[in-house]
Amino acid sequence: MQSLTHAYMVLNLVRGDGLNRKQENDLILGSIIPDISELGWGKEKHTHRSGWDFLKAHPNYPDFSLGMITHGESPQGLDYYTHRSVTGYLARKKKKVLEIIRRYPECWAGLNEDAAVHKIIEFSVESLIGEKNKWLIRKVNNAFRSRYVRRPVQSFSKFSKVNPNLCYALDNEHLQGWFKSFKNTPTAAALWLNLISWRKLKGLPTDSLWNKLRLYLRFSYFYVLNILTPKQRYIRMFTEVKQYLRKDYLKFLDKVEKKLIKTKIEVYTYAKEHGKEDDSAKRSFQQFWHRSREKIRGRVARLRHRQYR
Ligand SMILES: [Zn+2]
Repeated sequence: MQSLTHAYMVLNLVRGDGLNRKQENDLILGSIIPDISELGWGKEKHTHRSGWDFLKAHPNYPDFSLGMITHGESPQGLDYYTHRSVTGYLARKKKKVLEIIRRYPECWAGLNEDAAVHKIIEFSVESLIGEKNKWLIRKVNNAFRSRYVRRPVQSFSKFSKVNPNLCYALDNEHLQGWFKSFKNTPTAAALWLNLISWRKLKGLPTDSLWNKLRLYLRFSYFYVLNILTPKQRYIRMFTEVKQYLRKDYLKFLDKVEKKLIKTKIEVYTYAKEHGKEDDSAKRSFQQFWHRSREKIRGRVARLRHRQYR
């Protein structure tokens, strides 16, 4: 599943547990960040199958770890229940969705049928969640902007052997725009169009000049494309798929959530036994206070010096 769907399920899982804002932000980040492996950063083994190893190495980040674990394939998290064969959500929805999207082949050109069904179902569920829960989009965006989440994310990037600067890439307007795109069907369809075109673009032969131009072209190319391409067909395809999934996607998420209650208890019990209280927020406030006090003292000393000269 995609970002908002993961965050939605895990926030429901802890509903009523009295998590504070910082804990919630950690939870949200942990539930979304494993999918950086889809961007080619980090290995799936680290991001989708090692949540417990991360928790054991960092018992001070139980919320972040819970997000990671409930996202993954092993132990069984939301991705597992979505992807598994025969009884998984994708397998159950495939036949009907295929019937719909076969009528819109131009809307997934470049993908094979399996990949298209997979992506379009996940994209549609994401869009159903986004349009019904605008508060969630705000919450996710705020979590990505919070500077306290950088600590667990830093530990995560070390653990998954991805670029340690990952934590600084979170507060990013493109990412914010990405989440916002799921607020309704036309904006989600426009994002889909960009992704499909980007895939085609990536298939072109590259040379160094092309590489240099790519960042610039990406923006103007998509901008022009998005204006020129009639999106009506894309919107219609997603409307139909969403209409079909609307009936029971919540039932599926609810079922998975129930299965994960035991995992949640295990995670927090482990953290309680092995972790120290995380006082990073307190510490950084103390450092800030200390620095400000030193600055004021310095200024006062300089003023005095001037007075007596
Ligand atoms: Zn995933």
